[in-house]
Amino acid sequence: MSTTRFPLRPAKNTLLRSWTGPLTDKLVRVPGEFGLGQIPASTRPDSTVASVCGFCSTGCSLNIHLKNGEAINLSPEKNYPVNLGMACPKGWEALTPLSAPDRATTPLIRDSSGNLAPTDWQTAMSLFAEKFTSIRDTHGPGALAWLGTGQIATEELAFLGSLGKFGIGIAHGDGNTRQCMATAVAAYKQSFGFDAPPYTYADFEESDVLVFVGANPCIAHPIMWQRVMRNQRSPEIIVIDPRTTETASAATQHFAIQPKSDLVFFYAIARQLIEDGLLDKNFIESHTNDYAEFATFVADYTLARAADASGIPAERILALARLIGSGKRVSFWWTMGVNQSHEGTRLAQSLINLALMTGNIGKPGTGANSITGQCNAMGSRLFSNTTGLLGGRDFTNPTHRTEVATILGIEESRIPETNCHPYHRIIEGIESGEIKGLWVVATNPAHSWIHQGKFRDIIAKLECLVVQDMYHTTETAQAAHILLPSAGWGEKDGTFINSERRFGRFRKVRRAPGQALADFHIFQLASHAFGCAEMFEKWSSPEAVFKILRELSRGRPCDITGIEGYDHLDEAGGIQWPFPETADKPLATERRLFTDGKFHHPDGRARFIFSAPTPLPEPTCAEFPLTLLTGRGTSAQWHTQTRTGKSDVLRKLHPASLHAEINAEDASRLGILPNDKIEISSRRATITATAHVTNTIAPGQIFLPMHDPATNRLTFPVFDPHSHQPGYKACAVNIRVAGTCRPSPSRRHPVPSE
Ligand code: SF4
Repeated sequence: MSTTRFPLRPAKNTLLRSWTGPLTDKLVRVPGEFGLGQIPASTRPDSTVASVCGFCSTGCSLNIHLKNGEAINLSPEKNYPVNLGMACPKGWEALTPLSAPDRATTPLIRDSSGNLAPTDWQTAMSLFAEKFTSIRDTHGPGALAWLGTGQIATEELAFLGSLGKFGIGIAHGDGNTRQCMATAVAAYKQSFGFDAPPYTYADFEESDVLVFVGANPCIAHPIMWQRVMRNQRSPEIIVIDPRTTETASAATQHFAIQPKSDLVFFYAIARQLIEDGLLDKNFIESHTNDYAEFATFVADYTLARAADASGIPAERILALARLIGSGKRVSFWWTMGVNQSHEGTRLAQSLINLALMTGNIGKPGTGANSITGQCNAMGSRLFSNTTGLLGGRDFTNPTHRTEVATILGIEESRIPETNCHPYHRIIEGIESGEIKGLWVVATNPAHSWIHQGKFRDIIAKLECLVVQDMYHTTETAQAAHILLPSAGWGEKDGTFINSERRFGRFRKVRRAPGQALADFHIFQLASHAFGCAEMFEKWSSPEAVFKILRELSRGRPCDITGIEGYDHLDEAGGIQWPFPETADKPLATERRLFTDGKFHHPDGRARFIFSAPTPLPEPTCAEFPLTLLTGRGTSAQWHTQTRTGKSDVLRKLHPASLHAEINAEDASRLGILPNDKIEISSRRATITATAHVTNTIAPGQIFLPMHDPATNRLTFPVFDPHSHQPGYKACAVNIRVAGTCRPSPSRRHPVPSE
């Protein structure tokens, strides 16, 4: 990409001169408050403090051990209700990425020779403000956007979203949670009336039948899987997934369905439940709407039709339907195999429908349960102020806008009346020239976004790309015009919300390196640079913002007005929403939603929502005869590996290079031997990988882990129409031995027995 199109210069305008407010003075005088100096006195000098892990959404509590005021080691907390003394490899290595040599330690701006050159905060922020203000004033707020994350504190997410939309006047903002959780959000909102994952982790232990769909908790959520292993009810563990994943191998039953045959499969189960009368009629009549229409709709989805689509014999589907309708406690769990689909929202709702029709919701061991990915995807869903207004509200609702304006003490006219672009429309807007300035915070889309080659060409069109990150080496940081160095987990304070809706606190236990600052403080600096600091006068600390969020939640389904502050979270072992101040106390440590059968639609009823399956957007063909599946590689890897890639220990727990799982039959037919270098081609790119010949993948399919930057050069950009989430999971490819024009069938090898 051209990174020299505008050599950036420090601002010479009034913004720089006027940006001399108290925050700047404070930054110069007492840098410790902003990440440059000592860690808080409460965590000194030799002590142990508890902090919620900053990788995945499980939300384990880790005890961080300090010596002379510095974090030197950690161990999992035994008494926290989430992890009960356990941690996965990423958690054990959580401190390591903080010491990586490629930490961004000073602001950088791209100079006239195209290199990123060090500068100071005042220069960088002034330039940021000058460029974005110029774009906004010339082209309007719609020419600006930000891309956020599920990796920073709830308080920081709310600050970014409020500063962006109400302060700076950036029209469009979305998070990388669009890539993983948007489908669950859309499904819950439509079905329940609010984005409300209903479960608590105790449900893993209290279920008789656990149905995992497109989920591999053994490696993606290892501590949740440990909770399943604690189940004393001898549960049936059902895995529905095209691959024989680690979880499928450990399950009592695996249904290796054909990719994206899942919607037909679950509609057929619903039809069978109706035919056999295996329903909770009382629950359906008392607590749901649109059941009759749903029953009519699924009448066409026979077992034979599902067997034909999925490749699973009809009698096995029948047996599964009868197990689900047996009256036992059944829980449905899904992750990316459902969410990252061209019809993910309806697929998630097909599981919600099964839970509703069998009354498996609001009771121990039940639920239609979306497992979240990132440590604070749930915070992003409620408070990022991107495509939804703060507190799970709607921008298009005038009452909601009035409530937020009143609580924040801002003019209502500052709150947009329309929804902004979701992620993929922001990218399309950059491509079309509509969007000219982009601020990327704690995410790495130049690795993770679908159809990667095109994405990198698109961001080269930006007039100003500002990247705020811990590292200056990420693919996205390398494309930046301005880089803002940020503190990581362990170097700042705040709260995360985990998958089961539990607020947990994480703490600063180390100084950020060099001039790196907590994202919270970068947003404070930005508020001064953009001349809107007055609006955020009360946003003085993460805990002060937490109390603002508490007010924003008042009367909402996510009401947390009963949480007194950070100390309360510590004392309680984290607190699940809702917790209104009127709630009976003390609270149970594990609470599920909908125990009274009341949902969040105005009439209090859940809805059966459905529509006909749509064809696979990029089916296989003679030229591209294999279906590419993507997913988590190992429990030691996290997303684009900007952090896990820094750990020698974690790197030893996965292959050093990209490995592709291919079936032995396909390998034999194509003359591919184990460990051969192979070329994998889609209509968009060709990449190279090492062949891992295995029967864990079915013939006609190939699997690549998502952590390698090459994988998303192949993926096909298709989006669920309701959630706008990308469908990463299935596209058409071909493979051959690297360096050959065509397969060499003469190179045979025996089919492995694994
Ligand atoms: Fe951290 Fe998730 Fe591992 Fe727990 S399971 S230690 S939250 S990465």
